[in-house]
Amino acid sequence: LAKHDGRSTFRLFDEGLRNSVAERAQLEAALRQAVPRNELRLLYQPQIDADDALVGAEALCRWTHPERGPVSPAVFIALAEDSGSIYALGEWVLRTACRELAGWRPGTPLGQAVMAVNVSARQFHHPDFVSQVLDALHSTDADPARLKLELTESVVARDLDAIVNKMGALKSLGVRFSLDDFGTGYSSLSYLKRLPLDQLKIDQSFVRDLLADPNDAAIVRTVIALGASLGLDVVAEGVETAEQRAVLLAAGCHIYQGYLFAPPLPAEGLLALAGRS
Ligand code: C2E
Ligand code: MG
Ligand code: MG
Ligand code: MG
Repeated sequence: LAKHDGRSTFRLFDEGLRNSVAERAQLEAALRQAVPRNELRLLYQPQIDADDALVGAEALCRWTHPERGPVSPAVFIALAEDSGSIYALGEWVLRTACRELAGWRPGTPLGQAVMAVNVSARQFHHPDFVSQVLDALHSTDADPARLKLELTESVVARDLDAIVNKMGALKSLGVRFSLDDFGTGYSSLSYLKRLPLDQLKIDQSFVRDLLADPNDAAIVRTVIALGASLGLDVVAEGVETAEQRAVLLAAGCHIYQGYLFAPPLPAEGLLALAGRS
């Protein structure tokens, strides 16, 4: 009986494994078609300052698979990175975000807002990355000074000189840089000193338990102090409660992003929100 159980367990496991490998390959193939088939869209999550003004928005990509429905960004961005479709996806994201940004005309409620765009490590390290960004800006006529690229610590984990040069080429046009999910990856303080960053984003994992966990509170205060002494803006992500906002404000953090203010919104929703504030 035990032997029989063992065998059927094995068979089930084996089948599960085969399914997941086949499933992954299918999802990868479908993702490669997502841009040409118009299955991607961007949502925009507001960034709010201490005076409750809407100062910017982060573009967040969404993929609706024709049969499966919405796929989590955590899943499809990683899959795109592994399979190489991140280049086409990233280009689409940049172009779409810049087109939206170009429509935020001076004198309108979003006329001074900054557009933050996530850039993955593989995308940043591609030799054509700088020209990809320039292309997106030029073809849409968006203002480079209102574009902010969010890099993660995985981007800056190697070739520091090359990274500094690449960032410099874009910075000379006015493009800004933010270090996303700060504190969750491997970064060293010497990177922070050398990278031409404008902003640090405190990861939401530290904000989540800010009120309950003294260690998280200490980390948050330290990141805010670090940002201040390096002359960087500090943004807190994942702000869900007024209490969290109050603690962040008291610690010197003046820009917030999170469900307390708004979830990621369609472009029209962002515009409506900006018009009301
Ligand atoms: P991220 O860049 O750190 O984006 C913040 C994530 O936190 C978003 O998840 C957002 O929806 C979520 N969020 C916002 N407010 C709250 C809150 O109050 N509480 C909680 N618990 N979560 C909140 P999302 O949209 O699922 O994206 C996940 C990650 O996928 C992003 O993390 C980013 O790393 C990646 N991603 C999304 N769009 C793109 C893209 O266009 N390009 C690249 N390379 N990566 C992207
Ligand atoms: Mg981000
Ligand atoms: Mg983040
Ligand atoms: Mg994150």
